[in-house]
Amino acid sequence: MYDIIIIGAGPAGLTAAIYARRASKSVLVLEALSYGGQIINTPDIENYPVAAHISGFEFANKVYEQAQALGAEFVFEKAVEILDSGTEKTVVTTDNSYTCKAVIIATGSENRKLGLPEEEALVGRGVSYCATCDGAFYRNKTVAVVGGGNTALEDALYLADLAETVYLIHRRDAFRGDEATVNALKQRENVKFIYNSTVTKLNADKRLTSIEVTDKNGEVSTIELNGLFVAVGRIPENQNFAKLIKLDEAGYVSAGEDCITNVPGIYAAGDNRTKNVRQLVTAAADGAVAATEAVKYIASL
Ligand code: NAP
Repeated sequence: MYDIIIIGAGPAGLTAAIYARRASKSVLVLEALSYGGQIINTPDIENYPVAAHISGFEFANKVYEQAQALGAEFVFEKAVEILDSGTEKTVVTTDNSYTCKAVIIATGSENRKLGLPEEEALVGRGVSYCATCDGAFYRNKTVAVVGGGNTALEDALYLADLAETVYLIHRRDAFRGDEATVNALKQRENVKFIYNSTVTKLNADKRLTSIEVTDKNGEVSTIELNGLFVAVGRIPENQNFAKLIKLDEAGYVSAGEDCITNVPGIYAAGDNRTKNVRQLVTAAADGAVAATEAVKYIASL
């Protein structure tokens, strides 16, 4: 039996592994795909303390090696269920099942995609899902933000301070996000609103060069730009645990800054948890908090 099983080897899960091993707990990290999580898709990280520039891939490698050197075990299997019998938890994967005293769910969340051909290929070459991460690359350039929720509105406001022109494209004529942010955007001369429209085509010549936008009457227009920020929501990867763990309306684990869930001994860390700021540094912070809480819980058994 392990002390702690961590589900997910992104920045939150890997940091949790480091903290748990430094507290001398036996640790198994289960990962469905490859270690590093979403951050491996970020070409250049400029906002994590210590390094002015580091690629997401290099960052992920370093944290993985750090966790491994401290003695965390890694198994590349997808966790499909957690069974709770009080002081003993069982994590069932596609191939096996493992028992432990505490579980940290650090499965992250996925950006919802527009689903356009070339979208994936243009990530890092004009298409981004994170204005805070990539906005600085578009200083004095033309960008568009797609979406009508708080993320899209806040991204547009953030980009309005950097870019020359920001198009905000929403599929309806009313925003889902906060009115105060909409009003703040309306004060910005460099923000142009495009309502009742969806992005229907990405044009590229190695990098994104323009997009086609189709309005509700089927009329198509082309916008020349340098960057497209897609902010059409996220899909937290918690569905497999929903029978046991309380989720909020959007599917995130209902856990506060202490990472404690509704089940004693089960914690949530990183992007799959209800929170306002989903960044690398807050994911790592969650990993530290969740591991510390798990260690305290084990001591209390
Ligand atoms: P969201 O609230 O789910 O909004 C997603 C937006 O994208 C909606 O406006 C939706 O349009 C649009 N959309 C969805 N699929 C689309 C598609 N295929 N094509 C075009 N548009 C599409 O997601 P979010 O903005 O990421 O926010 C997630 C949660 O975090 C929300 O609860 C939000 O309030 C919260 N949040 C809070 C803060 C803050 O408190 N400071 C900051 C950011 C986010 P419709 O409106 O037509 O459905």
